[in-house]
Order: sequence, then structure tokens, then C-alpha cells
Amino acid sequence: MSSPTLDRVLDAVLRVDDGLVIQYISDSGLRWLGSAAAQERPKNFLALLHENDVVLFTDVCKDKPDEFSCDVRVNKNAAECWVNVRAYRLAAVDQYVLCIIDISQWKTNDAVYRHAAEHDELTGLANRAFFKKTVEAQLRSGQPAFSIALLDLDGFKKVNDTYGHAMGDAVLIETSHRLTRIITADDVLARLGGDEFVLLLPGQDAAMAHAVVKKALLAIARPFDTAPHNAYLGVSIGIAQFPDHGADYSTLLKNADTAMYHSKNAGKNRVSIFAVNDVSVDFSLKAAIHNGIQEGEFYLEYQPQYDVQRRLIGVEALMRWNSRDFGRVVPDKFIPIMEEAGLMPFLGKWALRYACHQLKKFHQKMPGFVMSVNVSPVQFGADGFDTQVVDAITETGVDPTTVILEITESTLMHSQEKTERALALLRERGIRFSIDDFGTGFSSLAYLTRLPVSSIKIDKAFVRAIEEQRTASVTDKKLITAMINLAHSIDLKVVAEGVENEAQFEFLKHSGCDLIQGYLLGKPMSSDAISRLLEHHVGTPA
Ligand code: C2E
Ligand code: CA
Ligand code: CA
Repeated sequence: MSSPTLDRVLDAVLRVDDGLVIQYISDSGLRWLGSAAAQERPKNFLALLHENDVVLFTDVCKDKPDEFSCDVRVNKNAAECWVNVRAYRLAAVDQYVLCIIDISQWKTNDAVYRHAAEHDELTGLANRAFFKKTVEAQLRSGQPAFSIALLDLDGFKKVNDTYGHAMGDAVLIETSHRLTRIITADDVLARLGGDEFVLLLPGQDAAMAHAVVKKALLAIARPFDTAPHNAYLGVSIGIAQFPDHGADYSTLLKNADTAMYHSKNAGKNRVSIFAVNDVSVDFSLKAAIHNGIQEGEFYLEYQPQYDVQRRLIGVEALMRWNSRDFGRVVPDKFIPIMEEAGLMPFLGKWALRYACHQLKKFHQKMPGFVMSVNVSPVQFGADGFDTQVVDAITETGVDPTTVILEITESTLMHSQEKTERALALLRERGIRFSIDDFGTGFSSLAYLTRLPVSSIKIDKAFVRAIEEQRTASVTDKKLITAMINLAHSIDLKVVAEGVENEAQFEFLKHSGCDLIQGYLLGKPMSSDAISRLLEHHVGTPA
């Protein structure tokens, strides 16, 4: 048995009796086992085994099979080591020959491979495949209610576009840390891809899950310290509960996704629980957009803007899509698709012309009424953008000083000569520019002083922080005041968006903010509704 050939292939060869008492051990085996074994020869094979594997091994040889193989851990030099034991029975003497191969290297590699296959490379969280496996195991376990929560960051695309992918990655990693802190060891957090995270909450119904993920809202609301600038994000969350909202993995995930889009629809940064009669939105949206353009499914709504005396002074035009197939789809969902599909210049042009026509009508009721129109960075960079704007204004004969184009900081950041020329040309014609979502991007003073901008719009994220009872909100309030002072010091007007309650309104008013926009004073509405407001509210506070 101690043939040289075997010795070279195997790490150890042993012969044991029916009580697993060692009768023979190869020299190579003694060397492999190390110094301790050389000093005092092990007597029983079981004494070599890791305590957790003793039962396993005695079980396998209990019925004295002629041959068996199993993987167990051996204590070797005070460390544990995985081995494969292949055993052959010598029936005549009722003994076994054990051929041992050290497989610890393979086990480690195996564990590394398995970890890589099951985890997200960037964040180290479970990945989509592993999450699916875990939920399916949960389904098989027959345990009662559990919930799945889908979390999608609000404003991530902006961080990525403005600061680049490295910063985007840093935000995703930090997000994974913050989310990990709000869950327990029983919960499973995974990253599905992009800025989408998902949570399995075993033993928790939707209401309990709601209480858990609400903490995520606060966790994500804290500024992300992405030096040299802070980034501000939110998170929209949807919950589906087993078995009420689905009996299998894909239905549960789809319904959590639908609930998540409800959160986005309702103004983002909130939690929604799936409701059984909700319809899900799938991903053939691109085709539906093309179709929707032909069918005239796109239209504009207008959200009123007031001064701090609550006098109506203008509106922001917001694009809407009521799809035949998908129902109402939020701009945060369809605009990125349009941008990607190259449709934004076309639809942006349409929105601009349409808004100007509408403004002309509003002017019949209130001359000087102001219309803000959003311009995507993609649109601004496209050839002939300035001509488009000039054409829309000439065609409708609207006073150019009543048109404000809302651009984002990323438009300015990537501003090349072409962009700057267009800005200057339009400014000469009297058109004004406002920086949308101010404070979330670069907020560089240089842009503000160099470019022909007339106002800034403080992002919702700051406004939201105003009445929250957190230390961080003190910083946010200081930031708002600083932004207002900064803007005023260079003669820019300040608009606050996302104003939802009186506390926010009062704070902004006392900080010197010029204009207020938000659900508190008016949600986005039809042109008819604005016309009615104009009839009743001209010069009178809302
Ligand atoms: P935005 O320019 O920041 O527009 C303000 C968003 O805040 C709107 O969302 C509005 O409905 C929402 N909002 C207004 N008041 C409140 C409030 O009190 N609380 C909360 N939570 N939200 C409030 P909406 O209409 O879903 O539009 C989302 C984004 O889509 C816009 O963000 C804008 O970036 C883009 N968008 C909309 N229409 C157009 C368009 O015609 N062209 C381009 N390029 N982008 C557009
Ligand atoms: Ca806007
Ligand atoms: Ca905005």
C-alpha cells in the first residue's frame, strides 16, 4: 500500500480497523500531517478529524460499504484542512484503506468562485442571481409571509452624468453601506444593477417591511460626501408581500417594481406597497414612445409659480405621457429613454413650440405671465437649438422676456463654445435662463457669473430637509440660506421647488427666496385650470 506511485499522487494513505484505529500510515502522510503527528503518531482516524465532521464520517462507514468517498476537514498543524477521503474495504480483515487528497486549495478557489458568482463586484452585496436563489429557497421553505422591497435611487443619473462614473460608483458603495445598517442579519440586501437595490425581509408582512424601509429614506437623504461637492439623492421604494402579491419570484419582483414606480409617480422619495389592481410597466417603452408620438399621446401640464406674497406669476411646463398601453408614465422614466433614443431634440422642440403657443393665450389674461420650459442637455447640445427657440418665439409672437429656459448644471458643465454661443445669442434676444435642480450638481460660482443666467431653482432635496428634525437639516437650512444670499449677491432670482408645507414656505420666505413652486400652492395642471386660476387670482394671493 505504501507504493511510491501512490505516495506521489496521494497526500496520505492510511489503513484503519473497524473501530477506525490506525494500523498503518504512510511516511508521506506523516510528513503531510506535520510535526505534531511526527512526534506522537495519531491513534484513531477520528482524532484527526474536525469535530463537526466526526459524525458525518462515522455515518458514511457505518454500514461498511465496499467503497466510499467524502470531503471532511482534518486538523493539521493546529489548522483545519479540507481533504477528500476515498475508502476501500478490505473485507477479509474488516479494515479500510483510506486514500487522502488535500483539497483545501480547491475549496478556497471554489469559495472564491462561488462568492464572485453570487456577489456584486462593485458593492460586495448579493447579486441578482443569488437574490433570486435566496427568494426561491424562501418560497420552498414553506415559511409564512415575507416581503420584497425594491429601492431605486432618485437623482443618481444626475450624479453620474455630472461627476462621472467613479463618483457614481462611490455613491453606490456608500448607498450599500447605509442600507446595510438599517437591516438585520436575517434580511438579504442585493444590488440588481444600476442604482436599483432589493431587499428580502423574511417573516415580515408589507406593513412591517414598510417600517424598515422608511429608515432608508432618511439614510439616503443625508448628503453624500463626494468631495469636492456633496451629492443629494433620494430613494423611491416599492414593496410586495408573499403570498398576497405573488406566489413566485418574478411576480413578486415585478409587483414590487410597479409599487416603486408608484412612489416615483407620487413625487419620489417615498415608500409604496403594491396594490393588487395595479398594472405593471414593462420595458417595451421605447416602442410605445415612438407610437405615442404618432398617436399624439404627449401633452404638457403647467405647475404654477408664486411669489412669497402668494401671487401667481408664472408656470413651469412639464411633459406628460398618457400611453395607450402603459397608462400615465412619469417623465423620470420616459425622458431618459427619449434622450437615449435620440428623440429628445424632436420632442423638446415640440414642447417649446407648444408652450409658447399656450403662453400667448395666457398673455391674453395676464400680460407678462412667465413660462418656464425644461431643456435637456441632449437638446441643448444638438445642432440648431438656438434657431429652434427663436423660431418658436417668432412664430407665436410671444414676448421673449417671458420665456425662461430651465437648464441643468450638467448642460453648463459640458458647455463648449457652441453651447455658450447659443446661450449668449438667446440671451441677446431677451430669453432668460434658470439653473434647475440647483445645489445637486456643481454649483460653481464661475458658471453663474460667466453665463447669462437670471435665476436658480433650489432643488427639492434641500426643501424637503427643511422641516425634518435632524442635525443634518440644520446644515441644509444653512446651505439654502447661503445659496439664496449667493444668488442675490450676483443679482439672480431664487425659485424653490417641491414646497409641500407651510413650514417650508415660511422658512423660504424668511430666507429671502423669491418664488415658490410646489404641491402646497399648486400641483401641475391643465392649461384650462391655469386659465381659471388667472381669471380668479390675478393680483390676489392664492
Ligand atoms: P424638474 O424640472 O425638477 O420638475 C419638477 C418636478 O417636481 C416635476 O416632476 C413636478 O411635478 C415635481 N414637483 C412639483 N412640486 C412638487 C412637490 O411639492 N413635491 C414633489 N415631491 N414633487 C413636486 P415631473 O413632472 O415628474 O418631472 C420630472 C422631471 O422630468 C423634471 O424635473 C424634468 O427634469 C423632467 N421633465 C419634465 N418635463 C420635461 C420637458 O418638457 N423637457 C425636459 N427636458 N425635461 C422634462
Ligand atoms: Ca424644471
Ligand atoms: Ca428641478
